[in-house]
Amino acid sequence: ASKRGGKMRCTWFNEAFDRSRDALRELDEDLRRALAQGEFVLHYQPLVDARTREVVAVESLMRWNRPDGKAIGPNIFIPIAEESGLINAIGLWVLRQACTDALQWSGIKLSVNISAAQLRNPEFPIQLGDILEETGFPSDRLELEITETSLVLDPVIAERSLDVIRGFGVNISLDDFGTGYASIGFLRQFRFEKLKLDRSLVVQASEDDGSRAMMLSSITVARAMKMDVTAEGVETQEQADMVRAAGCDQIQGWLYFKAMPPEDIAQYLSGPAETAAARETARKKSA
Ligand code: C2E
Ligand code: MG
Ligand code: MG
Ligand code: MG
Repeated sequence: ASKRGGKMRCTWFNEAFDRSRDALRELDEDLRRALAQGEFVLHYQPLVDARTREVVAVESLMRWNRPDGKAIGPNIFIPIAEESGLINAIGLWVLRQACTDALQWSGIKLSVNISAAQLRNPEFPIQLGDILEETGFPSDRLELEITETSLVLDPVIAERSLDVIRGFGVNISLDDFGTGYASIGFLRQFRFEKLKLDRSLVVQASEDDGSRAMMLSSITVARAMKMDVTAEGVETQEQADMVRAAGCDQIQGWLYFKAMPPEDIAQYLSGPAETAAARETARKKSA
């Protein structure tokens, strides 16, 4: 009986596996079409200075306008594009589009997410250089957000590429710090211009002392290494006060702004940002 059960489980597993593999293949074909047909758009989320509350940068975040109206976020489709290699073409589209959009927002920085598969491509630095030249976007206003994964798999190649990219004047940020394996030791091993504390760390630090200590010591190390620190995913005033007191330089999160279409950014570029809730109240009053 146990033998039969095993076989059945195996058949079930294979069917489920085939189904999910088919679904993945389908999604990958969808992504190819999406890129060719212009279904991707970029939204931008402002980062505010922790002290002055002025917008100092925007991060580009991909959105997918599917013809069937289904909402599929980048957390789902980026890993699929990474697996098939399509991320290279998508990533170049993102860079070109973001650099073009951000030309109009003088004085602030542009942050673009780069996946490990892109950085592993030895052509990437040259392609980036071409895009900077084509678009005329000032390289010292660009920062690339990478994660630890980019560096652990192939540290030698990654470091070499990052050196070339830095040579252009582009800054490198370590994204999603506090998730996965990225540790304080990691900060000392590689050089980054900016550290981005992941939302999960920000949330935990506002809830327990151990996580807060971990956040504070990361900030201390970042400081010592002359890195800027951004707190991601700040949703409440309490979290904003905490990360400001902890010494974060920038705050990014729904407390101030969600990601928005490029045409909405310009109105927020002068003066200190209000919270999203305060803007909403003001909007209702004036309506
Ligand atoms: P990420 O780079 O860490 O981006 C931050 C994510 O947190 C974004 O999700 C953003 O919308 C969300 N977020 C920001 N503030 C808050 C907040 O206060 N609360 C909550 N709950 N969430 C907040 P999004 O746009 O869904 O992107 C998810 C991830 O997909 C990004 O994480 C990034 O890893 C990846 N991604 C997005 N666009 C690109 C891209 O153009 N290229 C690559 N390689 N990856 C991208
Ligand atoms: Mg990011
Ligand atoms: Mg992040
Ligand atoms: Mg993230």
